[in-house]
Amino acid sequence: MIKLAVIGDPVEHSLSPVIHSAVMERLGMEYEYYRVKVEKGGLARFLERVKRENITGFNLTMPHKSDIIPFLDEIDAEAKVYNSVNTVKYEDGKLYGYSTDADGYKLALSEAGYSFECKNVLILGAGGVSGTIVSKAAREGAASIVVLNRTLEKAEAVIKCAEGSSAKCRADIMTDENMRHFAKETDILINATPLGMTGVSADYKDLGFLEELPKASLVSDLIYSPKQTSFLKSADELGLNTINGFGMLIYQALISDEIYLGQKLDLPELKVYIEENCF
Ligand code: NAP
Repeated sequence: MIKLAVIGDPVEHSLSPVIHSAVMERLGMEYEYYRVKVEKGGLARFLERVKRENITGFNLTMPHKSDIIPFLDEIDAEAKVYNSVNTVKYEDGKLYGYSTDADGYKLALSEAGYSFECKNVLILGAGGVSGTIVSKAAREGAASIVVLNRTLEKAEAVIKCAEGSSAKCRADIMTDENMRHFAKETDILINATPLGMTGVSADYKDLGFLEELPKASLVSDLIYSPKQTSFLKSADELGLNTINGFGMLIYQALISDEIYLGQKLDLPELKVYIEENCF
């Protein structure tokens, strides 16, 4: 019996139960899935339950992605770079931590016909996910990576995830002027802020900078609710290629399932199954 969970606070909104349950059903696995509200500071108690009930693995959302690290016996290289874990597997009495967000994003990008190789990447926002994508873009051979953020110090910290790579890197403040300036040379533009997300009142005030993008560029929003943010809608109206955050959401979950089950899965087939049956 596979026992899976998602933990966080809040956790009610999480789509993980829907996605992972669909995968287990599709694969014909006998499973149980728990959605567990774990408040900040509550990890030790939850981990006692994991060991007591022999839970196979669990996904983590806010506010635990970094806090879990001291509790883990081992952590994979990706998660170490990002200081962020979204997947934990419990096996043979040990806790193993992984980060699947960036690989999930990479698969979504590839599905849209893009890769980071030799591309100029512009990322808006410098939170946890931004760091994972900066690191992935750098290691996948991006030509340049620019991170613009409301708080400059965070952009400067995030761009350090590209250290040691050959990518030309820059961190700056997210002003209209900077967005317009850097958009001109951008191949892949990524919104990694919550601007325009369902339940968030703030949104981009001026999307005019999208007009500066080269026509072949990809505009990508990590947000999946709503399916089309004002950011994506404007890009779409300009005839630019766009992707929302659904691909990343589903792929990062599927990569977690590969970890839980210890086997390779047919990810594109499962993604189609989830899209057709869950959303
Ligand atoms: P986070 O750590 O909270 O970082 C949010 C970033 O957005 C910060 O850099 C913050 O700037 C900036 N920001 C927040 N409000 C802003 C505002 N009003 N104006 C300008 N900038 C603002 O978030 P995260 O975990 O990195 O997630 C980023 C986005 O990715 C979210 O929309 C999330 O829903 C999405 N996401 C998608 C997936 C998926 O699977 N598709 C997975 C994870 C996350 P400051 O540094 O100045 O505070």
